[in-house]
Amino acid sequence: MPALQPARGTQDLLPETARRHRMVSETARTLGELYGFAEIATPIFEFTEVFSRPIGEHTDIVSKEMYTFTDRGGEELTLRPENTAGVVRAVLSNGLTQSTPLKYFYSGPMFRYERPQRGRFRQFHQIGVEILGAARAQADIECIALGWRILKALDIAKHVVLELNTLGDPESRAAYRDALVSYFSAHHARLSEDSRRRLERNPLRILDSKDPEDVRINADAPPFDAYLNHASRDFFAHVRDGLGRIGIAYRLNPRLVRGLDYYTHTVFEFVTTDLGAQGTVLAGGRYDGLVELMGGPAMPGVGWAAGIERLALLIAEPPGPPRPVALVPIGEAAEAAALTLAETLRDAGLVVDLGYSGNVQRRMRRADRIGARAAVLLGDDEIAAGVATLRDLDSGAQAAVPLGELPARLKALV
Ligand code: ATP
Ligand code: MG
Repeated sequence: MPALQPARGTQDLLPETARRHRMVSETARTLGELYGFAEIATPIFEFTEVFSRPIGEHTDIVSKEMYTFTDRGGEELTLRPENTAGVVRAVLSNGLTQSTPLKYFYSGPMFRYERPQRGRFRQFHQIGVEILGAARAQADIECIALGWRILKALDIAKHVVLELNTLGDPESRAAYRDALVSYFSAHHARLSEDSRRRLERNPLRILDSKDPEDVRINADAPPFDAYLNHASRDFFAHVRDGLGRIGIAYRLNPRLVRGLDYYTHTVFEFVTTDLGAQGTVLAGGRYDGLVELMGGPAMPGVGWAAGIERLALLIAEPPGPPRPVALVPIGEAAEAAALTLAETLRDAGLVVDLGYSGNVQRRMRRADRIGARAAVLLGDDEIAAGVATLRDLDSGAQAAVPLGELPARLKALV
């Protein structure tokens, strides 16, 4: 075992990266509130069946990506690979199905056993939203609008396009499925092994294949459009109208099918070309059958999830905290006084660093390293006189300042 290494596909979020993650999730949380989404947090592990049934036994996630284990009590558990199923489970467990529509925001770690690469990890983080109990296209439109607003606020919208498709209602989907099965059966010998397996279980997923031969076969596959019934066509027209009305541009992508089994009607992805193969930054759709599939009442839903790692790679470096003030006590009495002075300065809202140990030179080097704006040098004699030496570390200017005036003088600097 490579001791002292993080497990494959996991990473430490050192402060600079953690700050980027926080920028992404806080922006999303704040803008979510603007649309009436309330934050929810569900457990990181659930009974395995919470995920396996709704996501679909034959999806990549369930068949090869879940971290599933039996705990010491014999329970079959899984680290959540995504959070929609968990949110729906929470709504059902807490008896919340009466007060619809429900609008939730979440942010947190997800786990999938995948081949790690840039923008793809085994522990990764998602922000996401779900609207439950809203059947009309307005909900789809508002979901997408929030996603778009977040990407704009993070200043990455210019690198991103919205791709849009519909999977229709179950009736349209069944008709399309039949059409696909006969088309792909005619090309069975050329299909990739994965796609042959998909042909029996979930032929729509073949459209999503990245295998070069599959891609060629897909090029002539029948378009979904021809199999959409009137209601599905009408619903999609509403979504597109609404997006147009609020000025959100999109590109229709008839090959967009999404990885999970539970989608109906609208599916969408915000995609960038700036991240190589891992180009999808935010993706979602409508899942009208999911709640019922999980044992709840008939209850429509729509939502999306976005990969925080991928967004964090795209944003500009977020501003750090204000520059600190370094306290540099010289002598025993000063050490003690510095502790209380530090608290007084923090009461005034200043960021204060106490070096804890070392001589003056060493502490000044530390002040330099942490980018301190000013140093406050505190000797035993100065304390007796009720003053401290304030050194402006940018200009080098230095002056004796009465302790009582320090907070105001420092605040004027940072
Ligand atoms: P992909 O096609 O990239 O595998 P997906 O369809 O499996 O994505 P979703 O389940 O829709 O992804 O998850 C939503 C978003 O979460 C993705 O668009 C992506 O930004 C992010 N995401 C998914 N899997 C990973 C991962 N293993 N590492 C990092 N981010 C991920
Ligand atoms: Mg995936």
